[in-house]
Amino acid sequence: MIGSGSSNTRDLAVERIVIVGGGTAGWMAAAALSRFLDNGRRQIHLVESDAIGTIGVGEATIPPILNFNRMLDINENDFLRETQGTIKLGIEFVNWGKQGDRYIHPFGFFGQELHGINFHQLWLREQGRSDPGYISDYCMSAVAAANGRFGRPSQTSRPPVSEMLYAFHFDASLYARYLRAQAERQRVRRHEGRIVQVHRDAESGDVSSVELESGQRIEGDLFIDCSGFRALLIGETLGVGYEDWSQWLPVDRAIPVPTTNIASPDPFTRCTAHTAGWQWRIPLQHRTGNGHVFCSAFMDDEEAERILMNNLEGEPFADRRVIRFTTGRRKQSWSHNVVALGLSSGFLEPLESTSIHLIQNGIQRLLALFPDRKISPLERDEYNRGMQDLYEDIRDFIVLHYKATQRDDTPFWRHVRDMSVPETLTRKLELWRLHGRVFREGAELFGLTSWVAVLLGQNIWPDNYDPIVDTLDEAKVAVALKDMRERYHQAAMALPSQEEFLRAAGAWA
Ligand code: FAD
Repeated sequence: MIGSGSSNTRDLAVERIVIVGGGTAGWMAAAALSRFLDNGRRQIHLVESDAIGTIGVGEATIPPILNFNRMLDINENDFLRETQGTIKLGIEFVNWGKQGDRYIHPFGFFGQELHGINFHQLWLREQGRSDPGYISDYCMSAVAAANGRFGRPSQTSRPPVSEMLYAFHFDASLYARYLRAQAERQRVRRHEGRIVQVHRDAESGDVSSVELESGQRIEGDLFIDCSGFRALLIGETLGVGYEDWSQWLPVDRAIPVPTTNIASPDPFTRCTAHTAGWQWRIPLQHRTGNGHVFCSAFMDDEEAERILMNNLEGEPFADRRVIRFTTGRRKQSWSHNVVALGLSSGFLEPLESTSIHLIQNGIQRLLALFPDRKISPLERDEYNRGMQDLYEDIRDFIVLHYKATQRDDTPFWRHVRDMSVPETLTRKLELWRLHGRVFREGAELFGLTSWVAVLLGQNIWPDNYDPIVDTLDEAKVAVALKDMRERYHQAAMALPSQEEFLRAAGAWA
């Protein structure tokens, strides 16, 4: 029974939440917290500085973003139109295993299990017996992506269309603007101005208020640090340290540049490996986002820019700038009464489009563990443990792309191929090499399809398939595979092009 404590809970309620920063993280937090925590008494403030601005990149997402948008009652067509958004069915990786290689890491699943045996095991056995084609021929999202097609699966869709998972590409600044409108409708109060001082309670060390250049002070019970790489509260004020992961992920700079579209947008992101890093291509409705992520120990800014400019498809139309970063994470995302979200809590290169997901996950975790003003260390530790696991799982998956290369054409690729990797990843790789098995641990974000796509896509073949496959009749399996492959192809070819889909849905701006 909670009777005796319930008045305490009300007395101790967090009534003033202050969000510091109005980039993607700040407005995602503002929209979600005001949607779920507004009880009429609670105030949510957001402070942002036009003079400082936002990072302004971050355009590709992964499927859980659909849950976040649904949580906020966002109409998908409306959102796509307002953010110049497109559909993303996966990522095409070019030149990663070897120069000239190309594979897709799709959303969704490879094939169908037979008698509970993972599809990729059946496909592995089929190698050398018949010609089963690429493993991506057996994934609805991959086949649709390869043909530039999309149709939104509905509750009445049947396999294989119902197996299609998707996410979005969008203009990050338009997404922030879209969420800002929603947050302000939900009574979030926005303050424009630069924070020049952060005040702390002398006894507890908690942050008590932030002070703007104008002298205005905004007091709060709980502070959400969305101040970007600067980490104004969690880092500068509270001194929470940063765990540097550049020994495993040495790229540390990015040059973004948008270009005009030269064709109807593809429903996938492309990541092309270069000599000391890689380049993204993210097609939106009105333009294409591009950028070169590279390692300054192996390449200078001028060369990186030259490579980028030589590998663009449309006309570049904005000034170039170099963004510097250190891969890693804040040792605690939540310290005292400050929760860090977005770049202030850590950064992993955008190879698998995970930063916005980390923000979303942090918000959902905070809602699940929402504190009172006493802030239980147990709940705070639980939050930190969950965020640590998520960051580390994503880190290992990104490191895999580098470690699983056969490239030896440049010092950078030789370095990443030969580097030692986290023990957690070594174990996964060893298990894969034996019998092609992948074990998802805990709530890991990237599951079987993702690992299989990257491992096989980068030519890391297991020594053997799982011996359990030999309990299945070879002829029947071969027929089942042929049938599946045909069904994926037919289903994809019956879909409209992604542009036709967006226009028909009223989602084209
Ligand atoms: P910012 O956008 O930097 O916002 C910080 C805010 O804090 C601003 O509003 C600023 O005004 C405010 N602020 C700071 N200091 C003060 C102060 N003293 N007073 C008042 N206000 C202050 N993510 C993805 O999911 N997919 C991608 O494809 C992707 N690509 C990326 C590519 C690159 C090169 C980089 C660097 C990042 C990419 N990201 C991507 C990450 C994504 O851009 C960020 O996670 C996201 O934009 C969140 O940024 P933020 O809101 O934490 O910080």
